[in-house]
Amino acid sequence: MEERGSPDGDPARSLEQGPEGPETPIQVVLRVRPMSATELRRGQQSVLHCSGTRTLQVSPPGGGPEVAFRFGAVLDGARTQEDVFRACGVRRLGELALRGFSCTVFTFGQTGSGKTYTLTGPPPQGEGVPVPPSLAGIMQRTFAWLLDRVQRLGAPVTLRASYLEIYNEQVRDLLSLGSPRPLPVRWNKTRGFYVEQLRVVEFGSLEALMELLQMGLSRRRSSAHTLNQASSRSHALLTLYISHQAAQQMPPVEPGEPPVGGKLCFVDLAGSEKVAATGSRGELMLEANSINRSLLALGHCISLLLDPQRKQSHIPFRDSKLTKLLADSLGGRGVTLMVACVSPSAQCLPETLSTLRYASRAQRVTTRPQAPKTSVAKHPQRLEMEMLQLQEENRCLQFQLDQLDSKASGLSGTRVAWAQRNLYRMLREFMLENERLRKEKSQLQSSRDLARNEQRVLAQQVHELERCLLSACYRRQPGPGLAPSCPCLMAPAPPCHALPPLCSCPCCHVCLLCQVPLAHWACLPRERHLSQVLGPEASGGRPPSARPPPWAPPCSPGSAKCPRERSHSDWTQSRVLAEMVTEEEVVPSAPPLPVRPPSTSPGLRGGAGVPNLAQRLEALRDQIGSSLRRGRSQPPCSEGVRSPSQVLPPR
Ligand code: ADP
Ligand code: MG
Repeated sequence: MEERGSPDGDPARSLEQGPEGPETPIQVVLRVRPMSATELRRGQQSVLHCSGTRTLQVSPPGGGPEVAFRFGAVLDGARTQEDVFRACGVRRLGELALRGFSCTVFTFGQTGSGKTYTLTGPPPQGEGVPVPPSLAGIMQRTFAWLLDRVQRLGAPVTLRASYLEIYNEQVRDLLSLGSPRPLPVRWNKTRGFYVEQLRVVEFGSLEALMELLQMGLSRRRSSAHTLNQASSRSHALLTLYISHQAAQQMPPVEPGEPPVGGKLCFVDLAGSEKVAATGSRGELMLEANSINRSLLALGHCISLLLDPQRKQSHIPFRDSKLTKLLADSLGGRGVTLMVACVSPSAQCLPETLSTLRYASRAQRVTTRPQAPKTSVAKHPQRLEMEMLQLQEENRCLQFQLDQLDSKASGLSGTRVAWAQRNLYRMLREFMLENERLRKEKSQLQSSRDLARNEQRVLAQQVHELERCLLSACYRRQPGPGLAPSCPCLMAPAPPCHALPPLCSCPCCHVCLLCQVPLAHWACLPRERHLSQVLGPEASGGRPPSARPPPWAPPCSPGSAKCPRERSHSDWTQSRVLAEMVTEEEVVPSAPPLPVRPPSTSPGLRGGAGVPNLAQRLEALRDQIGSSLRRGRSQPPCSEGVRSPSQVLPPR
């Protein structure tokens, strides 16, 4: 069934908006019963054709113009009881009833069109013979669903039922303990129209409810006539009252009043009938007149409800017991579903057209569904009591609020003091930390200075030793033709004058090995680097270009005995030593934060290369010693200036 009244497809949500919320139209489902065996036997034709799931086409037998009616759903004779139950969306109504709404399902149509069949299935085939499950009507299926739903709810729910009929304009209780007697229909502001002293029976199981249904059906008036062998002669209303425990605990306003909560009402109307067509006489005719009168009143109310000008004016619900009891469902706060039933037979066409027009109009009637809060709250004495209670509660809450305020203000003062204390403690800790870091920094600086001094001393020693080594080599240089004991002579023809000069004196500006004048001094960057390492004092205050490299042996300006040749390996070793000095020095930049405890010897930090340097120095001493020893065992080399061809091996 197409859901209407809610743009987002959830009617329940919009329904809960209360009387000021959107209006909800009555839902109408059309059911076309199949042609009966009698109708087929008489050769009657079907004049109704379903077009799609929502449109019914009526084709008059004389070839007149076709008429189409559109409803929420249209179900033809081939559809099962289950199909009808699903298409009607009764479960949605059940859900609403569980949430406190007042919901009504009513069947409407010509007598013999299948109203009772749709609601309760075929008439019982015998005393105590239940309806086969496949033929069970909307009511039985709803009962089963509701009981199951309540069981799964978990919350305690009380279920009650009442069952009445309106026969010849009299209300009779179908569940009364004695023989049914007429009951008055009253009205009050809280409940609207209601049946006084109606028996409302509590039930806890599906079986119990089915028993109540059977009891009512068996007591309901029905008669046989031409169109229906089991024609209902009364309008029957079975109402289920669904109340949650909280609402149930409220004391009733009046004794015998049904508990506050949702309602789900099934109305099986007696069918309108043409007395001439049904052949009713006597009592049957009286019943038929009474039925028709009440249905006429119902139609009149629906017409007035549809008229926008007259909707707010008086609706004559009091004209019949039926309209009184359906007042809330039609124009009030209820949610209503109409199942219009029609016969497809051409014989019934005038009644069918009347029903279709009736149903078309009904689906334009709207209600303003509202879940009743509680009727108890409207009682003046209760209102007064409630007001006093609320005032008392208000005072209590105000008092608690004041207390909380004062506590809150005291709390904030404590918090500020706590924050201040924390802040001071943090500041003190930061100051101590700063002091400690400053001390550590000065220790590191002094250890770095110590390491630098040590480096400088060691570098001087290295220079001195280097100088001794070179001069020793030079003195022990073998003569031509002799086996070259000097490593320089064994060197594999390097571009010897690429070697740096030993010092700034003119004699040193020739290649030590081949005596070629050195036109270009190519190690300025290295020299600059060394001056950075050793400081300006290392260069003796001279400009870098005039300063000898640290590995150059000291050379007195007037001395004629400058080293001319030296061993290539010694040179290499000297260079390695010098590079070690330069590479292992401490770069004078900001040191990283100490990662070791301050107790660690600071000497190791700035002068990590010192022990290494000392070892190398020792190695150098050994080498010098061995060189000297070797020199003593060899004849002194000529001190004359030799040509490069004399020194270097032939290429
Ligand atoms: P109403 O209550 O409208 O007077 P009923 O429900 O008593 O009509 O139905 C009249 C007859 O038609 C019954 O015998 C019933 O079993 C039969 N009938 C009604 N609707 C159907 C249906 N959909 N399928 C089969 N039989 C149906
Ligand atoms: Mg009936």
